[in-house]
Amino acid sequence: MDTPSPRPEDQAETCALCGELPDDLNVNTGRGECFPAAFDRLIPVGIPSPSQGQRVGSQFRRCPNCGAFFDWSDAPQMYGSGNCDEERLVRLPATTSRLLNTLFPPDPKAPPHPGEIGEYFRSLPLDLLLRALGSQVRTAPIILTPFVPDLARHLGVSEDAGIARLLGAYLSHIPERAEDIEAAQARHAQIILNKHFARAGFAPGASSLPGNWSSFGVLFRDAVAGLAEQGAPSPMMKKLLAELVEFIQAFSGNRPNDKLNELIGDSRPLRAWLGSYLPANDATKPRG
Ligand SMILES: [Zn+2]
Repeated sequence: MDTPSPRPEDQAETCALCGELPDDLNVNTGRGECFPAAFDRLIPVGIPSPSQGQRVGSQFRRCPNCGAFFDWSDAPQMYGSGNCDEERLVRLPATTSRLLNTLFPPDPKAPPHPGEIGEYFRSLPLDLLLRALGSQVRTAPIILTPFVPDLARHLGVSEDAGIARLLGAYLSHIPERAEDIEAAQARHAQIILNKHFARAGFAPGASSLPGNWSSFGVLFRDAVAGLAEQGAPSPMMKKLLAELVEFIQAFSGNRPNDKLNELIGDSRPLRAWLGSYLPANDATKPRG
């Protein structure tokens, strides 16, 4: 069956299937309320996103008649005397529906050309784009491939941990894209280092951003190993190390211990600083 292309918004509102649904609908399922019947005819697409903030989960749904997209979410709200579980359904704008339609193609193994990638970043809220891509990353990572360079660029200007998690999940499914992801990781790690150094009034370690993790390791040791020789890490350095380790661990599919060991290199003082972040049997082992 062909997937219908989303029509302009005014037509979607007169859709025989989803037209009866309001643009934004909250339903108190904890008290027995339910959505209008048309809700059940919308087609869920992608894997549901896990909880974020107050949301238990969310998933996009597409009208099989007009192609309009809806954003469904489930938010538990336990307060007062009763169960106030709420579900929310929001009709997404026509432009959003058109872009999402490309991200949820009928045949995920042969996705259509996504068009200009920049438009997705300009037209969609970042959270929504990340959820859409995240809901496809495990089953159809190829859909993400054209987005990786822009996602990596956004790592440079945004501290959104969601991008790091998404790229990590992507990497774990498409090993051959490892170089793109690693460049993004190295770039962001350097940005973390520069940020903390700038806050402490230090000159940044490097003016250009590294292109791979090994290069970042060299820059990291240049900037930090000398300080490690002076003794225990300063409060600034503790924050830097904690953020860096958290960032590395966000790429769960990417063997964080190897990444940390690569930063430590042969530096004994750095091993003393960072060893606590490694599993016990890794902490004392010199790098081979
Ligand atoms: Zn419709």
